[in-house]
Amino acid sequence: MAKKGLLIVISGPSGAGKGTICKQLLAEESQLRYSISATTRPPRKGETNGKDYIFLDEEQFMKMRDRGEFLEWAEVYGNFYGTPKKNVEEQLNQGYDVILEIDIQGALQIKRKFPEGVFIFIVPPSLEELESRITKRGTDSQEVIARRLNSAAKELEYVCEYDYVVVNDEVDKAVQRVKAIITAEKCRPHRREINIQ
Ligand code: 5GP
Repeated sequence: MAKKGLLIVISGPSGAGKGTICKQLLAEESQLRYSISATTRPPRKGETNGKDYIFLDEEQFMKMRDRGEFLEWAEVYGNFYGTPKKNVEEQLNQGYDVILEIDIQGALQIKRKFPEGVFIFIVPPSLEELESRITKRGTDSQEVIARRLNSAAKELEYVCEYDYVVVNDEVDKAVQRVKAIITAEKCRPHRREINIQ
């Protein structure tokens, strides 16, 4: 049987660049798989069902939740988000490393269930830079932007719940740091079978 893969949880304020970092990591690392979350948020322009998210209505989401099909779920900015359990477990069992890009509430739930996961918090270089990135993205209303910035300041207080903090000053550098974390984690004695004669 294949050695179980690493469960990698990435969180950070909206606009910190988690999505871009994950995309680049997935393009560069063939042993990595992305867990596609379910959400009740309506699709943004350019988002595809089944690729970016599994878009559900609230009734469908709650049915999945009640059947215990989520590894974790949370309400974020007025919408529900959840990580479907089956796919993550299958990929890990096949030896792939699985990356979850989820909010702090979800990460804390995963930490209780899978303390052996690797928890990485991505931060922007500053709150000013964060505001500029969210505004430039142009996908959110002024009200949503204000809410996201307010949450970002609060979210930064949770950094210490994570194993690692990566500052996303430049995407390439941030990706290299995450790769270094994955490499180092795989060298930890409790993840290795060591046979020294
Ligand atoms: P967005 O709507 O901008 O795609 O995501 C909003 C927030 O929801 C982000 O912080 C993102 O990481 C988080 N999120 C996405 N998928 C999940 C999930 O499956 N579970 C949880 N708890 N949060 C998620």
